[in-house]
Amino acid sequence: MSMPTPLLIKGGMIVNADRSWRADVLCVNGKIVAVGEDLDDQAPPGTQLLDATGQYVMPGGIDPHTYLATSLREPAAADDFFDGTAAALAGGTTTVLDTIHPLPGQSLMEAYHDHRRQAERAVCSYGFHATITHWDKQMQRDVAALTKEGINSFSHYMGYDELLMCDDAVLMQSFACLLELGVMPIVHAENGVLARQLQRTLFSKGLRSPSCYPLAHPAAIEGEATQRAITVAELAGVPLYLANVSCQASIEAIGRAHERGLRVYGEAPVANLMLSSKVYENTDQIKAALHITAPPFRDLDDQRALWKASGQGWLHTLGSHHQPFHREDKTRHLDAFDHVPVGCGALEERMALCWHAGINSGRLTPSQFVALTSTRTARLFHLYPHKGVICQGADADIVLWDPEAHHSWSAVTHHSRSDNSLYEGLTTKGMASVTVCGGHVVWQGGQLRVTRGMGAWLPRAPFAPQCAVARAFHRRHTQL
Ligand SMILES: [Zn+2]
Repeated sequence: MSMPTPLLIKGGMIVNADRSWRADVLCVNGKIVAVGEDLDDQAPPGTQLLDATGQYVMPGGIDPHTYLATSLREPAAADDFFDGTAAALAGGTTTVLDTIHPLPGQSLMEAYHDHRRQAERAVCSYGFHATITHWDKQMQRDVAALTKEGINSFSHYMGYDELLMCDDAVLMQSFACLLELGVMPIVHAENGVLARQLQRTLFSKGLRSPSCYPLAHPAAIEGEATQRAITVAELAGVPLYLANVSCQASIEAIGRAHERGLRVYGEAPVANLMLSSKVYENTDQIKAALHITAPPFRDLDDQRALWKASGQGWLHTLGSHHQPFHREDKTRHLDAFDHVPVGCGALEERMALCWHAGINSGRLTPSQFVALTSTRTARLFHLYPHKGVICQGADADIVLWDPEAHHSWSAVTHHSRSDNSLYEGLTTKGMASVTVCGGHVVWQGGQLRVTRGMGAWLPRAPFAPQCAVARAFHRRHTQL
């Protein structure tokens, strides 16, 4: 990749997670070299000028939760690393943290190498979470080796998919190891045993249509598992990141953990901020099938709780959980919801949806928006302050945000390869007018300017502050 042309972004309102102010930004060789007034004298010859008058200048979005590689099951998801990361850039997101799922019989290390190969097509920066499906000596070795490769977060599924599901004993053993390595455990909370039993009961009554899917995955079994994951993390002395927090019961469990001083972090799924269980409440089984995702869309009380928690800081980050499928694949099995591929797309839409429904309604301030969509993910996964902030020395990952621009979402114009969109026909106000990734202007005037493979692998070091503190505390107490 050639060195980017120096950039001077003039006249915008800088927004960081802690404050906003009017200043210009000078980027040279992919880094922010100055933030301030009257930077023209410092700009090298040939500097490209970007006029940000009337716009917000914010750190590029960081999506903590995507699935861009080969799916565990057939059919394959619609987007690979190229499509997904191109969509990310068009929406103002410059970094994704994607998830490695080992295939049955594959070691985590093999799955990692496979994932790296697939990610060579990416056009934005990327790091990985690796998924722990069981616990044995080989897994322990692979986890330690992957930490050295630059992975500092490991995912666990308490439910959702039998190929990934792990029980409390696995969580406990894994968390103890992650504590020593100084890396972050991630949990997808659902009581998988109860979900399976609920599904059996539904099927025995002939209730197999897509609109019955949420009945097998009620909020109560997410809330129960969230509390259980927090208990395991407390026993192991580790911080905990809860992916896809979708209901009031989970938020209450996180609130109780905070009251006890535990380092528990929650991620809101952007789709659940926008959509509710109403999408399943009719006889339109095609619509219900298109909305099958994990967790399912919840009721309006849960949605209100998510917004409140996102504004008050009980939830810390915002994820897309991007894994879209084609319409034909989603709607092939209208007689059996367990055969419908689970997942939807929101990588491109994530920031615009959050801005539209969060800022335009007054629920969030621009700084809270930046904290949710970028800064906190950078901090939790040890990318800060290279990512997640506009400051001297940071990577030139920047989005110019036009708060007055309107955009109508459609599968015809979105950058995902998927032929359907949950947001078809929705018009949002506020969008990325320019995206700068690593100093390159990659999205401007509604056009992407990317070359396959221009995205950079982001190795992430262990011992982010919250992990270092956890280990020091654990050491002190186990030595007594
Ligand atoms: Zn997930």
